[in-house]
Amino acid sequence: MAALLIKNGRVIDPASGHDGVADVWIEDGFIKGVGAGLTAAGAEVFDATGLVVAPGFIDMHVHLREPGFEHAETIETGARAAAAGGFTSICPMPNTAPVNDSPTVTTYIIEKARRHAIVNVFPIGAITKGSQGEELAAIGSMRQAGAVAISDDGRPVMNARLMRRAMECARSFGMPVINHCEDLHLSAGGDMHEGAESVRLGLRGIPGCSEDVMVARDILLAEVTGARYHVAHISSRHSVAMVAFAKLQKLAVTAEATPHHLAIADSDMIPYDSNFKMKPPLRSSSDVNAVVEGIVNGAIDAIATDHAPHPGSEKMQEFERCPFGILGFETALGLALERLVHPQKIGVAQLIPLFTTNPARILGINRGTLAPGAPGDVTVFSTDRQWTYDVNKSFSKSRNSPFDGTTFRGGPVATIVSGRIVWRAED
Ligand SMILES: [Zn+2]
Ligand SMILES: [Zn+2]
Repeated sequence: MAALLIKNGRVIDPASGHDGVADVWIEDGFIKGVGAGLTAAGAEVFDATGLVVAPGFIDMHVHLREPGFEHAETIETGARAAAAGGFTSICPMPNTAPVNDSPTVTTYIIEKARRHAIVNVFPIGAITKGSQGEELAAIGSMRQAGAVAISDDGRPVMNARLMRRAMECARSFGMPVINHCEDLHLSAGGDMHEGAESVRLGLRGIPGCSEDVMVARDILLAEVTGARYHVAHISSRHSVAMVAFAKLQKLAVTAEATPHHLAIADSDMIPYDSNFKMKPPLRSSSDVNAVVEGIVNGAIDAIATDHAPHPGSEKMQEFERCPFGILGFETALGLALERLVHPQKIGVAQLIPLFTTNPARILGINRGTLAPGAPGDVTVFSTDRQWTYDVNKSFSKSRNSPFDGTTFRGGPVATIVSGRIVWRAED
């Protein structure tokens, strides 16, 4: 029987509170035990001396572009890039073609992933048919087919009455509602954050309030409906404050931040470089600091990449014409360490829940723990190994990253899914 022993790493499992040097034993795809001096006859041994051993990382917000946009990414290539970022589970958003708004598409993604993806894939279904914001999608049957949440990411539900109904529906099926918070009237025509930088560059702005008004609306609707509500890629300081307030009111409101919104501000952009164009846009440094603070004080629950591949033919255009979005998987942990752990905002033990237990809890999936009997998904990483990101070596089909050439201190070393090493760093 296939067994793997991960020896002598610093094993951090937030779910059990374990933090110390130990071995992790995986057999037949499941965690068999965590302890000192474990032995298993015939087991493959992975020496994790000097490394951190954590439950497999979960990225609850990604775009795999399949079906429909396979020239940008496929479930197979996206999963490879995710593994190279230390992720063992990923949740693709429904904005494919066709949109994942029915059990047929949900099943297609799950089946395709089963055959071609080296990590676990938990699809997110659409809130409305075609994500058109007019009529609820087949939420219950997508749930039955395996969708773990609903979202119209990229095309937020502008109709508050419909959003209320979606929350009531999702609540009855025990699913969270994830919203890309952007009032489309306030953001219309914008290409970057509205502020001094957009004026200086002569680009049209996307104001912070376009995010804030929708976060406010949704928190009020979450209170009325009792739904579990999650803010995708939070980026503005007022939104962070409102989520903190909702938590104080004991509402089931959670939020995720992307590594890039933690790491860089609008003033860090290379002017007119389309690899710095995404939604929400890179905001002011005071917003960036508020997002970091939101992680530190617990207002923000998860780090999710919003991995959004676009081929060069589309991305390499004038800033105003190119699509929104950047790659995220392979640089996520490096950025999080650089922005949160190295400056001692939080310790490694506080970083891990953002990638594991918290997204697992929000989505209600059986992942994010090293407890005996749990799926054998493990992320092994370094907090000090120096490496430089070369986007041309990315496993993604696309190349749109603003972090090409960046040197990081620490990053993933091995990614283990169901007890199998699916990726390991080159020495
Ligand atoms: Zn979005
Ligand atoms: Zn997205």
